Amino acid sequence: MNPLGRHSDIRDAVRNVCREFPAEYWREKDRERAYPTEFVAAITRAGFLAALIPEEFGGSGLGLDAACAIMEEIQASGCNGAAAHAQMYVMNTLLRYGSDEQKRAYLPRIATGEMRLQAFGVSEPTSGTDTLSLRTFARRDGDEYVVAGQKIWTSRAEHSDLMVLLARTTPGDRVEKKTDGLSLFLVDMREAVGHGMTIKPIRTMMNHSTTEIFFDGLRIPASALIGEEGKGFRYILSGMNAERILIGAECIGDAKWFIARASAYAGDRSVFARPIGMNQGVQFPIARCYARMRAAELMVHHAAALYMEGGNAGAEANMAKLLASEASWAAADMCVQTFGGFGFAEEYDVERKFREARLYTVAPISTNLILSYLAEHVLGLPRSY
Ligand SMILES: Cc1cc2nc3c(=O)[nH]c(=O)nc-3n(C[C@H](O)[C@H](O)[C@H](O)COP(=O)(O)OP(=O)(O)OC[C@H]3O[C@@H](n4cnc5c(N)ncnc54)[C@H](O)[C@@H]3O)c2cc1C
Repeated sequence: MNPLGRHSDIRDAVRNVCREFPAEYWREKDRERAYPTEFVAAITRAGFLAALIPEEFGGSGLGLDAACAIMEEIQASGCNGAAAHAQMYVMNTLLRYGSDEQKRAYLPRIATGEMRLQAFGVSEPTSGTDTLSLRTFARRDGDEYVVAGQKIWTSRAEHSDLMVLLARTTPGDRVEKKTDGLSLFLVDMREAVGHGMTIKPIRTMMNHSTTEIFFDGLRIPASALIGEEGKGFRYILSGMNAERILIGAECIGDAKWFIARASAYAGDRSVFARPIGMNQGVQFPIARCYARMRAAELMVHHAAALYMEGGNAGAEANMAKLLASEASWAAADMCVQTFGGFGFAEEYDVERKFREARLYTVAPISTNLILSYLAEHVLGLPRSY
């Protein structure tokens, strides 16, 4: 089956909503570094952010491939799904490991948009990619945990009601396996801000609403724990595969946007009395980006299918993210080159999308770490760290 045809109804519906948010909307948000509240409300109203929530909790109970189609179309339409994608990423963790009580309490309200689950607190300033060395500590105290530490790059924290937080609950030198002793919590941020939790925005090269968060004796109920204490790292690993596949889909959407823009511009722009697109020096980079994007797209679809079958999609999820982020970045660079000077002008949107697309070879996991995973876990090469 042609992968472009998958979920065509959903894709049409997403494009219809995105049409209400034209380039001027995103330019203004970008200029002001403002959160696209209206856009997030619209895709929530349309039910897209509840795609993965089971029907019994008010969602549409769709699979990861449908979520990928939604995120891809948002990006391909020139919008920025980064404002809202976390709800898709962390959903799997909550569905697989959350208690019935947690699901009943939150999922229906997330599905209607009454509550937003948009924050995922893993990264810390000192640990970097080495997640197992994170320092934020949640100490059990009766019916509560007391959290102290710091997170960085917790995106959308100011625009979320809930945060999935990864914290240490047993010191690293007292665990048998180094993957033990970390726990996941579903933190109600509305109650936490000003009571041991402080959020500080970080201004970045693109409009991403990212923040750092300081925990200073924040008290959360023991019922906020997701699954078993000490098993949090295991829980986020399977969620991270979903995250990588979804990011891969977003990158495919970005690549499609750049390729469509470059093709249209190359056909229109006339220099030396003919369209620049008549020159093979202009055509070939666009065609090459198209071929790269299509190959990466196949890997994204393959990884999503494997994930939905319940198999270990670790290698495929990583390859999907690697190939798609490189394909979108290559397409971004090609698009600027095709536009020449106008690629740098705000009114053409290429420079904005270029800045936005740059993120994905670094986050949520950098290319080196993916290559290292493939080298060690797939090819059996010696561990490097
Ligand atoms: C805009 C933005 C939004 C983000 N949103 C979130 C979020 O919502 N939640 C969250 O938890 N995190 C978030 N992150 C964090 C993101 O996941 C990390 O920045 C990313 O995983 C890279 O980690 P780091 O920045 O600590 O880099 P580091 O770990 O410090 O690495 C720096 C560089 O060194 C390389 N490197 C490190 N170790 C090795 C090695 N052993 N071998 C080879 N190369 C190596 C890396 O590949 C990288 O290129 C976000 C980041 C950004 C910039």
